[in-house]
Amino acid sequence: MEELKLSWYEAESAFSKIAEEYKVVAPKRKAGKGRFSDTDVVSYDRVELLSDIVFSARTCFSAKSVFFPIRETMFHYDKEGIKEAPIERQSTIVFLRACDINSLDILDAMFLENGGYQDFYYKRRRENVKLFLLECPRSFEHCFCVSMGTNKTDNYSVFIRREENGYAVNIKDEAFTKYFPNGTKAKVEPHFVEEDSSSLNIVNSVDCSLFENKMWKEYSQRCTACGRCNVSCPTCSCFTVQDIIDKDNAGKSERRRIWSSCQIKNFALLAGEHNFRIPKGDRMRYKVLHKIIDFKKRFGFSMCVGCGRCEEVCPEYISMAGCIEKINEVVSTNGG
Ligand code: SF4
Ligand code: SF4
Repeated sequence: MEELKLSWYEAESAFSKIAEEYKVVAPKRKAGKGRFSDTDVVSYDRVELLSDIVFSARTCFSAKSVFFPIRETMFHYDKEGIKEAPIERQSTIVFLRACDINSLDILDAMFLENGGYQDFYYKRRRENVKLFLLECPRSFEHCFCVSMGTNKTDNYSVFIRREENGYAVNIKDEAFTKYFPNGTKAKVEPHFVEEDSSSLNIVNSVDCSLFENKMWKEYSQRCTACGRCNVSCPTCSCFTVQDIIDKDNAGKSERRRIWSSCQIKNFALLAGEHNFRIPKGDRMRYKVLHKIIDFKKRFGFSMCVGCGRCEEVCPEYISMAGCIEKINEVVSTNGG
């Protein structure tokens, strides 16, 4: 392990060498692209300069698409057979906060440890990615990572902090020491948030009577079924599969998978037009209980890392933490 303080120039020069070999994906400010007029957004994108990285803001959307693209061609096919779809092979570095690094354990469980099969498409991207840590000395609005136990991590190759006179780096992965020939030795430890703005208790099980509780009616009235909560979430991993027929090249087709959302109307649609989660409150109940209880029963840890993004992006300000608190209230009053 190497811990260094670097001047602006030393750090930028080290980073430029890294960016020549790796595709670097990090939070970047997009002027005028925010949700409301004349506002900016901070979102994940490729960066060429260390100074382009936004260290101090949470992104509205996670970096999940680096590992699991929004839309991915799985293979091409025609009457001759099936051909694997090529992907970009350049190794990637992604800058993540502790909760987002911990969210990869959840994606790994879903794609690599689920039902005895490993997802080929996820695996080939996941193996090609190195993690750089962004620290969180303070909680962002709506975060509850401490309650979810995802506020800390030591699973990173390099930690970088922007300081008043340059950068501080902590290099854990020896493969990266060669990029940092300069700098002054110093103690550099990441800061991790230690307290949520309001701490949450997470129940381990609920009685089936919770399914019929009136609390879900509020979500039927408020939720617009837009699916933004799923899209922004670092751990939602549902997708749908489509066959695309190329009309200009007769006989040539491709199969794609595309992100889906358990909050949209037809997610639970079955053959014969049966849809077993029509009220939006039922979909909210499914999402929240899957995140905090069902997934944990199967894999041993919760499927929510408390990043707060779903509340941040929801047009109706529906809060995951608020819903967990309501479940706690019901459980403590009537046991389920
Ligand atoms: S459910 Fe919400 S708070 Fe939990 S990980 Fe997903 S986006 Fe973050
Ligand atoms: S973002 Fe909000 S309104 Fe949209 S589906 Fe999710 S909970 Fe419903």
